[in-house]
Amino acid sequence: MEPIVALLGPPGSGKGTQAERLRDRLGFTTLSTGELLREARAADTELGRRAAADMDRGDLVPDDLMVAIVRDAVAKLDGEPILLDGFPRTVAQADALAAALSERGRELTSVVLVDVPDDIVVDRISTRGEGRRDDRPETVRERLRVYHRETEPLVDYYEARGLLRRVDGARDPDAVADLVRAAID
Ligand code: ADP
Repeated sequence: MEPIVALLGPPGSGKGTQAERLRDRLGFTTLSTGELLREARAADTELGRRAAADMDRGDLVPDDLMVAIVRDAVAKLDGEPILLDGFPRTVAQADALAAALSERGRELTSVVLVDVPDDIVVDRISTRGEGRRDDRPETVRERLRVYHRETEPLVDYYEARGLLRRVDGARDPDAVADLVRAAID
C-alpha cells in the first residue's frame, strides 16, 4: 500500500519546501491546500473568491470547502503515494480525511510535525519576502494564533493514534529533509 503522509506545523515551518523535496526525491504527489487556494485566487475561480477574505485575515477557510476539495483530489489518486501539506488543519478536517481515505480503502500512514518555535516563525516570514498578502506582521500573528488554537490539537489527536513523528524544523532545509525522510521510513 502506498504511503499517505501529512505534514503538520506552524506557518513558516517550511512544510512547503519539504513537500517539494518529497515530491522530487520520493515521487509523492503533493497536495498543498494553501497553494491550491492561491492558484484558485490567481485564476479568479469561485473557490478563490470564497477563500480570499479568510486568507487575507489569516483565518482558516471553512472546513466544508476544504474537505470537499481534498476528498475529490484523493479520489483521483488511488494507488499513489500522497503528501498532504497544510491539510488537515482542524480536528473536523482530520475526521473527514479519515472517512474520505477509508472510502478509497486507504488510511494515513504517518503525520510529521515540523516543529518550529513562534519567534523563529515570525523572523523567517518577515525576512523571506515572498510577497504573500498574508505575510504582513499582524496577519502572521493571527495565523500563529489560529495554528495554536485550531491545528495544534492535531498533535495529540495523531499521537493518540500512534501516527505522529516530530522533527526539529528549526534546522536548515537539508537537515530537516533528512529528518523527515527518516521519520516516514
Ligand atoms: P501557512 O502554513 O504558511 O499558513 P498555507 O499556504 O498552508 O500557509 O496556507 C495559507 C492560507 O490558506 C491559510 O492561512 C488559510 O487561510 C488557507 N488554508 C490552507 N489550507 C487550509 C486548510 N486545510 N483549512 C483551512 N484553510 C486553509
